[in-house]
Amino acid sequence: MSQVPENIHTTFDQLLNRNDKEQLLKQHALCVWFTGLSGSGKTTIAKGVERELYQRGYLTQVLDGDNIRSGINNNLGFSETDRLENIRRIAEVTKLFINSGVITLNCFVSPTEDLRILAREVIGNDDFVEVYVNAPFAVCEDRDVKGLYKKARAGEIKNFTGLDAPFEAPANATLEIRTDEMTIEQSVQAVVELLLPKIQLEAKH
Ligand code: ADP
Repeated sequence: MSQVPENIHTTFDQLLNRNDKEQLLKQHALCVWFTGLSGSGKTTIAKGVERELYQRGYLTQVLDGDNIRSGINNNLGFSETDRLENIRRIAEVTKLFINSGVITLNCFVSPTEDLRILAREVIGNDDFVEVYVNAPFAVCEDRDVKGLYKKARAGEIKNFTGLDAPFEAPANATLEIRTDEMTIEQSVQAVVELLLPKIQLEAKH
């Protein structure tokens, strides 16, 4: 048996890298960044995509306000500085998942180009797929899934996106989904079809 020379470390001694983990999971990791107004359908679509991909053998992690703002970012508000820090930390967390081979499905209003560019820069352009979940303000307000529009109209929430804070339509989105014109099923399928060629490493059994 040949001896490994001193100071030469075999890969066995080193930390496993992203590629090793992607091989293990048989998938190519990336981040899908869903952007859009509150109630536009980001979470609904991400959960549907997660279910579809799970059935095909892909491991994903949904990141959204519920698991990020309530935990790691629970000390952040909605000032300009805090919004940037919110996105920066989300992007750093996303990178950790990607380096473990996991596909992340990120659901954040992320209303400005600055915020999305920051996320893209931290995560890396090659691993960043931007999906614009688009429904008119009036439709989102009508849905009012979380009762936020009612509160914003009553003045209980300041700087509410689409009302007294801007939403800048993304310039670099790979896919736009009009959720007022498509069913949930169609919306989920559109994302799954976009993703499958990008996440396939080899044929799944
Ligand atoms: P967001 O995560 O963007 O705040 P949610 O997913 O929580 O939005 O809410 C979207 C609402 O819109 C849900 O009540 C969902 O049933 C409804 N909806 C109607 N059509 C669609 C569609 N095509 N895609 C996603 N959601 C849709």
